[in-house]
Amino acid sequence: MKKQDKNNQRKTSKNIKKNQEEFTFNVDDDNLDAFEFSVNLDDTYDSDEIPDYSDSYQKKRLSRRTTPRQERMTPRQESVPSHREDIENETEKLRKNKKRKASDRGDNTAKKLRPVGAKKKQIIVVMYSFLALFLIMIGYFVYFNIFEGQAIASNPNNVRTAKLQENIVRGKILSNDGTVLADSTVDEEGNVTRNYPFNNIFAHVIGTANINKSGLEASAESLLLTSNANPLERAINEIRGDKNMGDSVITTLNIDLQQVAYDALGDNQGVVVAIEPSTGKILAMVSKPDYNPNTLAQSYQEIIADTDSKVLLNQATQGTFVPGSIFKIVTALAYMRSGEDYQSYTYNCQGNISLDTGSGSTTLSCFNNSVHGTVNFETSFIHSCNTSFANIGLNLDADEFTEVSNSLLFNKSLPTSVSHVKSSFSLSNTDSGWLKGATAIGQGNTAITPLHATMIVSAVANGGMLMEPYLIDSVKSYDGGDVQKNMPVNYGSLMSTGEASTLTEMMRGVVTSGTATSLSNLGFSVAGKTGTAEVDNVGNNTWFVGFAPVDNPKIAICVLIENSEKSSSYTAVPIAGQVLSAYLK
Ligand SMILES: [Zn+2]
Repeated sequence: MKKQDKNNQRKTSKNIKKNQEEFTFNVDDDNLDAFEFSVNLDDTYDSDEIPDYSDSYQKKRLSRRTTPRQERMTPRQESVPSHREDIENETEKLRKNKKRKASDRGDNTAKKLRPVGAKKKQIIVVMYSFLALFLIMIGYFVYFNIFEGQAIASNPNNVRTAKLQENIVRGKILSNDGTVLADSTVDEEGNVTRNYPFNNIFAHVIGTANINKSGLEASAESLLLTSNANPLERAINEIRGDKNMGDSVITTLNIDLQQVAYDALGDNQGVVVAIEPSTGKILAMVSKPDYNPNTLAQSYQEIIADTDSKVLLNQATQGTFVPGSIFKIVTALAYMRSGEDYQSYTYNCQGNISLDTGSGSTTLSCFNNSVHGTVNFETSFIHSCNTSFANIGLNLDADEFTEVSNSLLFNKSLPTSVSHVKSSFSLSNTDSGWLKGATAIGQGNTAITPLHATMIVSAVANGGMLMEPYLIDSVKSYDGGDVQKNMPVNYGSLMSTGEASTLTEMMRGVVTSGTATSLSNLGFSVAGKTGTAEVDNVGNNTWFVGFAPVDNPKIAICVLIENSEKSSSYTAVPIAGQVLSAYLK
């Protein structure tokens, strides 16, 4: 009998293989000598149409008949993929039930059984029901994973985020070359640990996932807590109660550059930001003081106990600083747009200028009490002559100056997906001469974020066109499937190509003959502007902003050193040199 079963089994699978749309099942056993029927998944059978195939002659007829029908059904094969096994299993169950019932009865009446049309119809209905239930179940999980899951992930509500975290293991964050910057490990009990292999180096830009949620861990959370893995795999994990793997976020960050910037800053408190001007890709972003995200939980209470601490702050995006002389880029643009004949401008610098404060006067000096003598517009910029720029500021209309500043994105949200605070600028025509002069040299009421400063020089480098800065290059499922690719976004012109070209030449002059000559022998050309802003009681903010190579810019950079006792030439400029060299050599 066993042999016969095997034969029948082979016969069954052979028929199934041959007839993908019309299945023929031969069910022989002790009691059922010839239980055979055909299932057409496409047609509804009328019981009258089903012939009695109890003898071998009819079996032969059936197998001949299947051929034309198979051809007819071929185009619709896709509607029933890979469920033959389920149907076969159901048939096997039915066969066993029949066998049991027959033996329960203890007689051989089953031998006399003939498939009746109504019964066949019933079996077909049962099988369809199982099939439909199975499809609905799979469909629900797939639907939930694809649509509902995403909707929940995008919801900023923390409760929902927490719920997602229960179902999804937070995805990886990778550098632009695919190196892991953050990933998750799950122990045998299902506890998830977030790891940051580079410790402090990417602390602020990547941020932390649990305590003090910040950086990309916060802004890209909905991506990291969405799984676009194989829908079937996800459905199976859901059914089994296992977590799915979240998607990977591939950043624009360059590991080598970030490392060099981090090391170059050393023990200084400050910031380095680097952007690719032609795309807006953020290549590096370092802020100090910093922390180790792997051990933040242990040091957190101590850090927040000091309310003045900047350890947790990404100062590149969340810190605003007195810009000092780097703001002369903005003042120069305002003067170029004022309608004055800036190319004929001359001024005789005596090292200081007396300015009206409204209730008296005060003296504004050139840096280090330098006396620059006769300067024009360009040499005023190259040597960063404060008195000449204060003089320019006195002659600018405050409303127009404000308009130019706003056109360079002061007092506005910056066009970037990176979270940040606004830079500020304010000046009115009723303000004192002192405030007008101070504002022109980047003191006054002006404050700027290092990210914003980098964006302005990035636009100059790019012929006036600002590419929106971004950190996420693409998103992939954990198993490598493409989910999302972010292309560079052109914000528009911050200035005309002519204006950008004039500023570029003046910034080139700063390096070739001005305040940043230490960058003139790096093996590539650099354009930039230095700044040393006096900040009450804490020392200087020293700056360098610029780009390189001048004629084909690959990188725009901003370096800020806080609370420095030295000028920018000894602090920000050499750090910029190290970072630019690392990228361009
Ligand atoms: Zn001067």
